[in-house]
Amino acid sequence: MKKIIIKNISKIYKIGKDKDFYALKRINLAFDDTGLVIIAGKSGSGKSTLLNILTRIDNPSSGDVIFNGKRYSKLKKHKLNKFYNKEIGIVFQEYHLLENQSVIFNAQLPLLISGESKKKSTEKAKDILKSVGIKEELHSLMANKLSGGEKQRVAIARAIINDPKVLYCDEPTGALDTTNTKVVFELLKKISKKRLVICVTHNLPIAKEYADRIIELSDGHVASDISINPIENNVITREHKQKSRHNNWTSKILLTNYKRRVRRNVFCILSYSISLIMLLLVVGFITNKDRAIKEAGSRQLDFGSGLLSEEVKTSSAGMLTLTKSNRPDIDKVKNNSKISNLFEICLNFSTIFPQNMQISYQDYIVQDILINPIYSFDNTHIDYTLLDNGYFPNSDSLDEVVINELAFSYLCSQLNKNVLFEEFEIANKYLTTYVDEYDNEISDTFVFNRKVKIVGIVKEINYLPSPKMYYSHQALEKFLTESVLENLSTYKGKQITWYDRIAECDNNSLLSSYSYRLFLKNYNYKNQLFNNIDFGYNLVFTSQSLILCDSLIGFLQVAEYGTILFLAITMLGAILILSIMSFASYSEDHKSSAILSSLGASNDDISSIYLFESLINGIISVLLSILLSIPLSKLINLLINKKIDLNNLIVVSLNSFLNIKFLFPIIMIFLTFIICLFSTILPILFSKRKSLKGELQNL
Ligand code: ADP
Ligand code: MG
Repeated sequence: MKKIIIKNISKIYKIGKDKDFYALKRINLAFDDTGLVIIAGKSGSGKSTLLNILTRIDNPSSGDVIFNGKRYSKLKKHKLNKFYNKEIGIVFQEYHLLENQSVIFNAQLPLLISGESKKKSTEKAKDILKSVGIKEELHSLMANKLSGGEKQRVAIARAIINDPKVLYCDEPTGALDTTNTKVVFELLKKISKKRLVICVTHNLPIAKEYADRIIELSDGHVASDISINPIENNVITREHKQKSRHNNWTSKILLTNYKRRVRRNVFCILSYSISLIMLLLVVGFITNKDRAIKEAGSRQLDFGSGLLSEEVKTSSAGMLTLTKSNRPDIDKVKNNSKISNLFEICLNFSTIFPQNMQISYQDYIVQDILINPIYSFDNTHIDYTLLDNGYFPNSDSLDEVVINELAFSYLCSQLNKNVLFEEFEIANKYLTTYVDEYDNEISDTFVFNRKVKIVGIVKEINYLPSPKMYYSHQALEKFLTESVLENLSTYKGKQITWYDRIAECDNNSLLSSYSYRLFLKNYNYKNQLFNNIDFGYNLVFTSQSLILCDSLIGFLQVAEYGTILFLAITMLGAILILSIMSFASYSEDHKSSAILSSLGASNDDISSIYLFESLINGIISVLLSILLSIPLSKLINLLINKKIDLNNLIVVSLNSFLNIKFLFPIIMIFLTFIICLFSTILPILFSKRKSLKGELQNL
């Protein structure tokens, strides 16, 4: 049985609109198992076209090739790898070695691709290289360091290392001098003793000396077919064992590629790391901002102090709702367990003792300092850690007050001196009238004129800052219970005090201040204030600290949307960069990929080289971003803290995320894997346009 039968092969190229050009015209040939067959002919006679069809690099327009009894047209595409790897070997005029790999690696590559172990394939490669006359000292050299003759011998060694049944050579001596040409033909002759060698050449004079059969082509048909030597059948039968497909030939190529493109890869890593760092920081910001704001919001000495009023709708028409504030019924408030458990309930004195009372130092009037109550200076109501200088008053006294840092620096600069332990005068006048049942008006004036000493300075959150002075509400209450209303007491004949007057006056009187003052009973309950306490029907709690927190949360919510948008853009940019890099790498390596294909490497193996290159960049980026994001977040926190008093606004969520340990690094690695997969496979699919023929012959 003939090894190869060519049946009525034609190859037609379209030239011009309706013009066909026959590169091959109904060729019929048959080849035995062994021998050196020379295909000769002038340039353009169709030699390469015929060889391309025989090597399945190209398909005929009509006709078929029967190889070992099997039709090419029936050979499935996925079996092509095995065909290239085991059945045939190809030697090109341009050698097509992997120029950046060692000689020995080039020679052993088909064995590695077939799954042979590194050790065995190295041994065999050494033998084969020796048999083609490549000295041992050249084995570890890069292929690009060899001379043309040496390269072609390495290419022949590579083509026969897997013991193919047929060796195809297209002008193997085209680029060689006469001496090297003879060496190559001698080698081919030797090889052809055990297998069929089909060699295209235009160097007929030398080829004739070695040929067993010479087929001459002319204008696409067989001009002559002469057998010279009778062919002895020495063919070795050999079974290819199916090897396991695990060895590291792809990693060797991957490593060389990676080193060759180190700058590009560094660029990839940097751009992807930047987007991962952004991801870490943005998630760190989103998950921590509310906590940071709440912590900051509670860093106010009057945290937990607020007003409780009752809001009654007086009219509601469409969008407009009018409400009226009342002082709620005291029994209703006291029976409300939420209120009485959490708060001290006090009368509000802000009408007669407003925030903006006049403060003076000797004769100098100081403006813009707010006077705020805290329940008392005893130990459960306030955050003692805020004290920065001086002390908290030991007893509840109206004579000793503390101020915040802002007030301190403001006063110091206004008065040009250190104001700690200095005395100031606080003064206020308030006129009130009482109308009895006979329409008599009884007037009394509340006069407050008192010296207070600044004994402590507290450090508060500096967002929406205002200079503040803090006094004890209990001390004021005591003072008011002792200050008798002179005229009303005379009229009523009993000692009515200012406290009584405020406590007893009806809902709508200005004096009632419309509200009660609530003070958190214990500073440790502070977190409950953030849970949007609902005190029930119509009762409204307003607190400076909570308003401050709300406004901060609203402000940072906007910032959050901005950062998410920014993150999305950075991620997209990074994915695009990774894709472009993979695309560029794959495109510039088209030739090596084609060489690997012609040696029988599968497309999956070749794609995996680029996928892993991208994955290495991805994993390095993950590690780099984790390493960099922690100090970076600390730096950003430091800068933010200088502007707004928010501590640890950004916490990189590496240890635990959504209460699951190491969730975030796992998500990042998974995400990276997906991104690398898509950014590699898509560009590769996209760029897989050129045929094997185009790659191996046009380069
Ligand atoms: P050679 O014998 O020199 O190897 P080829 O087999 O390469 O010749 O080419 C045979 C003929 O087919 C030539 O005339 C060449 O110009 C033509 N040819 C080869 N490839 C194409 C193609 N893709 N399109 C049109 N004509 C082609
Ligand atoms: Mg040619």
